[in-house]
Amino acid sequence: MSKQIIKDFKGQFTELQEQGLFKQERIINSPQSSEIKVSTGAEVLNFCANNYLGLSNHPAVIKAAQETMDNWGYGLSSVRFICGTQQIHKELEKEVSAFLHTEDTILYAACFDANGGIFEPLLGAESAIISDELNHASIIDGVRLCKAERFRYRHSDMEELKDCLIKAQSAKYRIIATDGVFSMDGDIAKLPDICKLAKQYDALVMVDDSHATGYIGKTGRGTFEQFGLEGKIDLITTTFGKALGGAMGGCTSGRKELIEMLRQRSRPYLFSNSLAPAIVGGTLKVLEMLVGSTELQDKVTNNAAYFRQKIIDAGFTIVPGDTAIVPIMLYDERLALKMADMILKEGIYVIGFAYPVVPKGKARIRVQLSAAHEKHHLDKAVSAFIKIGKKLEVI
Ligand SMILES: *Cc1c(COP(=O)(O)O)cnc(C)c1O
Repeated sequence: MSKQIIKDFKGQFTELQEQGLFKQERIINSPQSSEIKVSTGAEVLNFCANNYLGLSNHPAVIKAAQETMDNWGYGLSSVRFICGTQQIHKELEKEVSAFLHTEDTILYAACFDANGGIFEPLLGAESAIISDELNHASIIDGVRLCKAERFRYRHSDMEELKDCLIKAQSAKYRIIATDGVFSMDGDIAKLPDICKLAKQYDALVMVDDSHATGYIGKTGRGTFEQFGLEGKIDLITTTFGKALGGAMGGCTSGRKELIEMLRQRSRPYLFSNSLAPAIVGGTLKVLEMLVGSTELQDKVTNNAAYFRQKIIDAGFTIVPGDTAIVPIMLYDERLALKMADMILKEGIYVIGFAYPVVPKGKARIRVQLSAAHEKHHLDKAVSAFIKIGKKLEVI
């Protein structure tokens, strides 16, 4: 073992700590929920989980997962194509396809894997990928693993996207890749414009709807539903680790020939374990619940609208939007982290985001709303923001 690397890394950790950028994990001693217990013993209200529908600890989902485990076992000890495909995996793929209005779906251990394994099997060096600059890290990594030519357009800048498409006209195939809801700003991709340009310049469209599936759109199907683009997106990737129960797992869904090629060639699918039965059963239950009622979808949407308005009224600057992600802009890195810590002491669990998760000088506290929040939770959070915001002279 080289001693130099240990010494160097220790130095880097000290530097990060001095800059206030060292990430410290906070320990939770309870299930994921709107009210959680942290390791100090304090009970706090949670405003930073991706638990949009409040299903992470829902009794019906837990029961379904337990029953599936009783019937189908704990694990598969295999990848899908050797001896790891159970009837329930096929069932989940069918139900996800129906939920997303697509032809077929392929499951992955995570959406990170779905994105990591989507480009390389479909596109060779003679093709082109055109990507929004704010796309999720897993899309960026997936693009890196593919030999296609890369184009990047400024966030949601349709003129630049058009320029990229023009430059990529000589490529064999073109694909536009975008997040559906952008995780740090909470804004929605301009899908109608993207689809129009894709049609005009003969490109495929890939949307990562991880922060949208389950609650965006009238019945929570995702960003395509918000714009009436059912069946118009060639490829959708998404996670089961956010709104859809929050355990883990992900998928790619879309045109059946594209999905078939992924089954043949996608490396995170071919060389990684099958999704555990408990997760398959839990996710199936979540989809059943969402198809049966829009109560949870409506609740998180209303909670987000209420919170946004109260925070604006209090004088804070937020990134405009209408998702359950509300970025409260503080710009200064230390201020964002300090404010989040002080708000936690008021019993509201929020996290400050600084470089490199967001650009330098764009630090913020990202608040995430959930259907598990009640009005009194929201009011308590707003009060804490106002109290600390005044103390730190933000408002
Ligand atoms: C969370 C997220 C992922 C990763 O999902 P996992 O299933 O946790 O790997 C991928 N893309 C986007 C846009 C995300 O927000």
